[in-house]
Amino acid sequence: MIVMKFGGTSVADADGIRRLTEIVRRRQARAGTPPLVVVSAMAGVTDQLLRLVTAAERRDTAFLDAEMPLLRERHRRALDALVSDEDAAGAVQLELDAQFDELQALLEAVTILREASPRALDEIAAAGELSSSRLVAVALTAAGVPAAWIDARRAMVTDEAHTTAVPLPAETRDALDRELHAHARGRVAVVGGYVGATRAGATTTLGRGGSDYSASVFGAAARAREIEIWTDVDGMLTADPRIVDDVLVVPHLSFGEASELAYFGAKVLHPSTILPAMTDGIPVRILNSRRPR
Ligand code: ADP
Ligand code: ASP
Ligand code: MG
Repeated sequence: MIVMKFGGTSVADADGIRRLTEIVRRRQARAGTPPLVVVSAMAGVTDQLLRLVTAAERRDTAFLDAEMPLLRERHRRALDALVSDEDAAGAVQLELDAQFDELQALLEAVTILREASPRALDEIAAAGELSSSRLVAVALTAAGVPAAWIDARRAMVTDEAHTTAVPLPAETRDALDRELHAHARGRVAVVGGYVGATRAGATTTLGRGGSDYSASVFGAAARAREIEIWTDVDGMLTADPRIVDDVLVVPHLSFGEASELAYFGAKVLHPSTILPAMTDGIPVRILNSRRPR
Protein backbone atom coordinates (compact mmCIF):
# COMPACT_ATOMS: atom_id res chain seq x y z
CA MET A 1 0.00 0.00 0.00
CA ILE A 2 1.04 3.62 -0.42
CA VAL A 3 -0.02 6.57 1.71
CA MET A 4 -0.93 9.86 0.02
CA LYS A 5 -1.36 12.90 2.26
CA PHE A 6 -2.98 16.06 0.89
CA GLY A 7 -2.52 19.31 2.80
CA GLY A 8 -5.01 22.13 3.32
CA THR A 9 -4.29 24.01 0.11
CA SER A 10 -4.73 20.76 -1.86
CA VAL A 11 -8.30 20.33 -0.50
CA ALA A 12 -9.16 24.04 -0.19
CA ASP A 13 -12.17 23.89 -2.54
CA ALA A 14 -13.94 21.76 -5.16
CA ASP A 15 -11.23 22.44 -7.76
CA GLY A 16 -8.51 21.25 -5.38
CA ILE A 17 -10.47 18.11 -4.50
CA ARG A 18 -11.00 17.42 -8.22
CA ARG A 19 -7.24 17.60 -8.76
CA LEU A 20 -6.78 15.23 -5.82
CA THR A 21 -9.26 12.81 -7.39
CA GLU A 22 -7.31 12.67 -10.65
CA ILE A 23 -3.99 12.26 -8.83
CA VAL A 24 -5.38 9.36 -6.77
CA ARG A 25 -6.98 7.75 -9.83
CA ARG A 26 -3.68 7.74 -11.73
CA ARG A 27 -1.65 6.66 -8.73
CA GLN A 28 -3.99 3.76 -8.03
CA ALA A 29 -3.75 2.62 -11.66
CA ARG A 30 0.05 2.71 -11.49
CA ALA A 31 0.33 1.02 -8.07
CA GLY A 32 -2.32 -1.61 -8.80
CA THR A 33 -3.78 -1.26 -5.29
CA PRO A 34 -5.87 1.44 -3.66
CA PRO A 35 -3.89 3.93 -1.55
CA LEU A 36 -4.62 5.20 1.94
CA VAL A 37 -5.44 8.90 1.55
CA VAL A 38 -4.84 11.21 4.52
CA VAL A 39 -6.27 14.73 4.30
CA SER A 40 -5.95 18.00 6.19
CA ALA A 41 -8.84 20.34 6.87
CA MET A 42 -9.72 22.71 4.01
CA ALA A 43 -7.17 25.55 4.05
CA GLY A 44 -7.78 27.98 6.90
CA VAL A 45 -10.45 25.89 8.64
CA THR A 46 -8.35 24.88 11.66
CA ASP A 47 -7.42 28.54 12.24
CA GLN A 48 -11.10 29.42 11.91
CA LEU A 49 -12.11 26.75 14.46
CA LEU A 50 -9.55 28.03 16.95
CA ARG A 51 -10.81 31.59 16.43
CA LEU A 52 -14.32 30.33 17.18
CA VAL A 53 -13.07 28.90 20.48
CA THR A 54 -11.50 32.24 21.44
CA ALA A 55 -14.70 34.04 20.51
CA ALA A 56 -16.77 31.62 22.61
CA GLU A 57 -14.48 32.18 25.58
CA ARG A 58 -15.09 35.93 25.19
CA ARG A 59 -18.82 35.33 24.71
CA ASP A 60 -18.58 37.03 21.33
CA THR A 61 -21.82 35.54 20.01
CA ALA A 62 -21.93 37.98 17.09
CA PHE A 63 -18.71 36.45 15.75
CA LEU A 64 -19.99 32.91 16.29
CA ASP A 65 -23.29 33.69 14.57
CA ALA A 66 -21.46 35.17 11.60
CA GLU A 67 -18.75 32.50 11.20
CA MET A 68 -20.62 29.23 11.77
CA PRO A 69 -22.86 29.60 8.68
CA LEU A 70 -19.76 30.41 6.58
CA LEU A 71 -18.09 27.21 7.71
CA ARG A 72 -21.17 25.12 6.94
CA GLU A 73 -21.66 26.89 3.61
CA ARG A 74 -18.07 26.33 2.45
CA HIS A 75 -18.39 22.56 2.90
CA ARG A 76 -21.87 22.47 1.37
CA ARG A 77 -20.70 24.39 -1.70
CA ALA A 78 -17.81 21.97 -2.27
CA LEU A 79 -20.12 18.97 -1.81
CA ASP A 80 -22.66 20.35 -4.29
CA ALA A 81 -19.96 21.04 -6.86
CA LEU A 82 -18.39 17.58 -6.51
CA VAL A 83 -21.31 15.19 -6.11
CA SER A 84 -24.27 15.37 -8.49
CA ASP A 85 -25.97 12.18 -7.28
CA GLU A 86 -28.64 13.48 -4.89
CA ASP A 87 -28.73 10.43 -2.64
CA ALA A 88 -24.97 10.31 -2.18
CA ALA A 89 -24.72 14.07 -1.61
CA GLY A 90 -27.74 14.04 0.72
CA ALA A 91 -26.28 11.29 2.91
CA VAL A 92 -22.99 13.12 3.37
CA GLN A 93 -24.78 16.44 3.88
CA LEU A 94 -26.68 14.85 6.80
CA GLU A 95 -23.40 13.70 8.33
CA LEU A 96 -21.84 17.14 7.88
CA ASP A 97 -24.94 18.76 9.40
CA ALA A 98 -24.68 16.49 12.45
CA GLN A 99 -20.96 17.27 12.71
CA PHE A 100 -21.52 21.04 12.61
CA ASP A 101 -24.53 20.84 14.99
CA GLU A 102 -22.27 19.10 17.48
CA LEU A 103 -19.60 21.75 16.93
CA GLN A 104 -22.16 24.45 17.59
CA ALA A 105 -23.24 22.74 20.83
CA LEU A 106 -19.60 22.49 21.94
CA LEU A 107 -19.09 26.20 21.26
CA GLU A 108 -22.22 27.01 23.25
CA ALA A 109 -20.81 24.99 26.14
CA VAL A 110 -17.57 26.97 25.93
CA THR A 111 -19.59 30.20 25.90
CA ILE A 112 -21.27 29.20 29.15
CA LEU A 113 -18.05 28.05 30.80
CA ARG A 114 -16.03 30.99 29.38
CA GLU A 115 -13.20 28.53 28.99
CA ALA A 116 -12.25 25.61 26.73
CA SER A 117 -10.33 22.78 28.34
CA PRO A 118 -7.62 21.15 26.16
CA ARG A 119 -10.00 18.24 25.74
CA ALA A 120 -12.82 20.49 24.50
CA LEU A 121 -10.35 22.29 22.23
CA ASP A 122 -9.43 19.00 20.56
CA GLU A 123 -13.05 18.02 20.10
CA ILE A 124 -13.59 21.33 18.29
CA ALA A 125 -10.34 21.43 16.30
CA ALA A 126 -10.96 17.90 14.98
CA ALA A 127 -14.06 19.07 13.08
CA GLY A 128 -11.94 20.37 10.16
CA GLU A 129 -10.33 17.05 9.24
CA LEU A 130 -13.43 15.01 10.05
CA SER A 131 -15.48 17.01 7.56
CA SER A 132 -12.85 17.40 4.81
CA SER A 133 -12.23 13.65 4.84
CA ARG A 134 -15.95 12.89 4.43
CA LEU A 135 -16.04 15.28 1.46
CA VAL A 136 -13.00 13.73 -0.20
CA ALA A 137 -14.30 10.17 0.25
CA VAL A 138 -17.64 10.92 -1.41
CA ALA A 139 -15.97 13.02 -4.13
CA LEU A 140 -13.66 10.14 -5.06
CA THR A 141 -16.57 7.70 -5.24
CA ALA A 142 -18.62 10.17 -7.31
CA ALA A 143 -15.69 10.46 -9.74
CA GLY A 144 -15.59 6.68 -10.21
CA VAL A 145 -12.80 5.95 -7.73
CA PRO A 146 -14.56 3.85 -5.05
CA ALA A 147 -13.58 5.15 -1.63
CA ALA A 148 -14.52 4.60 2.01
CA TRP A 149 -14.42 7.10 4.87
CA ILE A 150 -12.39 6.02 7.87
CA ASP A 151 -13.04 7.77 11.19
CA ALA A 152 -9.62 8.97 12.42
CA ARG A 153 -10.87 8.72 16.00
CA ARG A 154 -11.17 4.97 15.52
CA ALA A 155 -7.95 4.49 13.55
CA MET A 156 -5.36 6.70 15.29
CA VAL A 157 -4.74 5.83 18.94
CA THR A 158 -2.80 8.39 20.98
CA ASP A 159 -1.75 9.20 24.51
CA GLU A 160 -3.76 11.68 26.60
CA ALA A 161 -1.69 14.80 25.83
CA HIS A 162 -4.53 16.86 24.39
CA THR A 163 -3.54 19.35 21.62
CA THR A 164 -0.10 17.72 21.24
CA ALA A 165 -0.98 14.02 21.46
CA VAL A 166 1.57 11.36 20.60
CA PRO A 167 0.44 8.36 18.55
CA LEU A 168 0.76 4.87 20.06
CA PRO A 169 2.20 2.79 17.18
CA ALA A 170 1.14 -0.73 18.23
CA GLU A 171 -2.42 0.27 19.13
CA THR A 172 -2.71 2.36 15.97
CA ARG A 173 -1.55 -0.56 13.84
CA ASP A 174 -4.31 -2.79 15.26
CA ALA A 175 -6.94 -0.06 15.06
CA LEU A 176 -6.08 0.88 11.47
CA ASP A 177 -6.05 -2.79 10.39
CA ARG A 178 -9.47 -3.27 11.94
CA GLU A 179 -10.97 -0.14 10.34
CA LEU A 180 -9.50 -0.84 6.89
CA HIS A 181 -10.75 -4.40 7.04
CA ALA A 182 -14.22 -3.36 8.18
CA HIS A 183 -14.73 -0.48 5.74
CA ALA A 184 -12.20 -0.17 2.92
CA ARG A 185 -11.52 -3.63 1.40
CA GLY A 186 -10.40 -2.96 -2.17
CA ARG A 187 -11.41 0.68 -1.99
CA VAL A 188 -9.42 3.84 -1.38
CA ALA A 189 -9.50 4.59 2.36
CA VAL A 190 -9.83 8.29 3.23
CA VAL A 191 -8.97 9.42 6.74
CA GLY A 192 -8.51 12.82 8.37
CA GLY A 193 -5.00 13.66 9.51
CA TYR A 194 -4.14 15.54 12.72
CA VAL A 195 -6.95 13.74 14.62
CA GLY A 196 -6.93 10.72 16.90
CA ALA A 197 -8.42 9.49 20.15
CA THR A 198 -7.18 8.12 23.44
CA ARG A 199 -7.70 4.46 24.36
CA ALA A 200 -10.76 5.64 26.31
CA GLY A 201 -12.14 7.32 23.18
CA ALA A 202 -11.55 11.02 23.92
CA THR A 203 -10.75 12.98 20.74
CA THR A 204 -7.16 14.25 20.50
CA THR A 205 -5.08 16.24 17.99
CA LEU A 206 -1.40 15.87 17.13
CA GLY A 207 -0.43 19.56 17.14
CA ARG A 208 -0.50 22.12 14.32
CA GLY A 209 0.60 20.77 10.98
CA GLY A 210 0.08 17.27 12.38
CA SER A 211 -1.49 15.70 9.30
CA ASP A 212 2.01 14.94 7.97
CA TYR A 213 2.67 13.11 11.22
CA SER A 214 -0.60 11.15 10.83
CA ALA A 215 0.50 10.13 7.33
CA SER A 216 3.80 8.71 8.52
CA VAL A 217 2.28 6.96 11.53
CA PHE A 218 -0.40 5.40 9.32
CA GLY A 219 2.29 4.59 6.74
CA ALA A 220 4.32 2.70 9.32
CA ALA A 221 1.16 1.02 10.67
CA ALA A 222 0.13 -0.12 7.19
CA ARG A 223 3.73 -1.16 6.35
CA ALA A 224 3.46 1.22 3.37
CA ARG A 225 5.86 1.13 0.44
CA GLU A 226 5.93 4.91 0.20
CA ILE A 227 4.54 8.00 1.90
CA GLU A 228 3.66 10.85 -0.44
CA ILE A 229 3.14 14.36 0.96
CA TRP A 230 1.10 16.29 -1.65
CA THR A 231 1.36 20.02 -1.02
CA ASP A 232 1.87 23.36 -2.80
CA VAL A 233 5.63 23.20 -3.48
CA ASP A 234 7.73 20.92 -5.72
CA GLY A 235 9.63 19.32 -2.86
CA MET A 236 11.93 20.19 -0.01
CA LEU A 237 13.44 23.52 -1.11
CA THR A 238 16.69 25.23 -0.20
CA ALA A 239 14.65 27.88 1.65
CA ASP A 240 11.06 28.89 2.37
CA PRO A 241 9.81 30.27 -1.00
CA ARG A 242 7.63 32.75 0.89
CA ILE A 243 10.81 34.42 2.12
CA VAL A 244 13.45 33.69 -0.54
CA ASP A 245 12.90 34.08 -4.32
CA ASP A 246 15.46 31.89 -6.05
CA VAL A 247 14.96 28.57 -4.30
CA LEU A 248 15.93 25.17 -5.65
CA VAL A 249 14.41 21.75 -5.08
CA VAL A 250 16.64 19.47 -3.04
CA PRO A 251 16.21 16.25 -5.00
CA HIS A 252 17.14 13.88 -2.21
CA LEU A 253 17.76 14.15 1.53
CA SER A 254 18.63 11.60 4.15
CA PHE A 255 16.05 11.02 6.89
CA GLY A 256 18.38 12.86 9.27
CA GLU A 257 18.70 15.92 7.04
CA ALA A 258 14.94 16.11 6.40
CA SER A 259 14.20 15.73 10.07
CA GLU A 260 16.65 18.46 11.04
CA LEU A 261 15.27 20.89 8.43
CA ALA A 262 11.72 20.24 9.61
CA TYR A 263 12.77 20.71 13.20
CA PHE A 264 14.36 24.07 12.38
CA GLY A 265 11.21 25.33 10.67
CA ALA A 266 10.87 23.99 7.11
CA LYS A 267 7.10 23.94 7.46
CA VAL A 268 6.66 21.62 4.50
CA LEU A 269 7.07 18.65 6.87
CA HIS A 270 5.90 18.41 10.47
CA PRO A 271 9.05 17.76 12.55
CA SER A 272 7.82 14.39 13.87
CA THR A 273 6.99 13.07 10.39
CA ILE A 274 10.32 11.49 9.66
CA LEU A 275 10.74 9.25 12.70
CA PRO A 276 8.05 6.62 11.98
CA ALA A 277 9.15 6.50 8.32
CA MET A 278 12.81 6.23 9.29
CA THR A 279 12.21 3.42 11.76
CA ASP A 280 10.61 1.31 9.03
CA GLY A 281 12.75 2.68 6.15
CA ILE A 282 9.74 4.01 4.23
CA PRO A 283 10.62 6.65 1.62
CA VAL A 284 8.84 10.02 1.99
CA ARG A 285 8.22 12.03 -1.18
CA ILE A 286 7.07 15.64 -1.30
CA LEU A 287 4.96 16.42 -4.37
CA ASN A 288 3.08 19.39 -5.79
CA SER A 289 -0.65 18.74 -6.27
CA ARG A 290 -0.82 21.58 -8.83
CA ARG A 291 2.03 20.07 -10.86
CA PRO A 292 1.52 16.33 -10.44
CA ARG A 293 3.70 15.39 -13.43
P1 ADP B 1 0.20 21.78 3.65
O1 ADP B 1 -1.04 22.55 3.93
O2 ADP B 1 0.19 21.09 2.32
O3 ADP B 1 0.62 20.90 4.79
P2 ADP B 1 2.16 23.73 4.53
O4 ADP B 1 1.79 25.17 4.33
O5 ADP B 1 2.06 23.15 5.89
O6 ADP B 1 1.33 22.89 3.44
O7 ADP B 1 3.66 23.47 4.01
C1 ADP B 1 4.04 23.89 2.71
C2 ADP B 1 4.73 25.23 2.80
O8 ADP B 1 5.93 25.10 3.56
C3 ADP B 1 5.18 25.78 1.49
O9 ADP B 1 4.15 26.47 0.81
C4 ADP B 1 6.34 26.69 1.89
O10 ADP B 1 5.92 28.03 1.97
C5 ADP B 1 6.71 26.24 3.29
N1 ADP B 1 8.12 25.91 3.45
C6 ADP B 1 8.92 26.40 4.43
N2 ADP B 1 10.18 25.95 4.31
C7 ADP B 1 10.20 25.15 3.21
C8 ADP B 1 11.22 24.38 2.56
N3 ADP B 1 12.47 24.33 3.02
N4 ADP B 1 10.86 23.67 1.47
C9 ADP B 1 9.61 23.69 1.01
N5 ADP B 1 8.60 24.39 1.56
C10 ADP B 1 8.88 25.12 2.67
N1 ASP C 1 -5.34 21.20 9.93
C1 ASP C 1 -4.23 21.13 10.88
C2 ASP C 1 -3.52 22.47 10.95
O1 ASP C 1 -3.91 23.40 10.27
C3 ASP C 1 -3.28 20.01 10.58
C4 ASP C 1 -2.60 20.06 9.22
O2 ASP C 1 -3.07 20.76 8.31
O3 ASP C 1 -1.59 19.38 9.06
O4 ASP C 1 -2.63 22.61 11.74
MG1 MG D 1 1.50 21.27 6.69
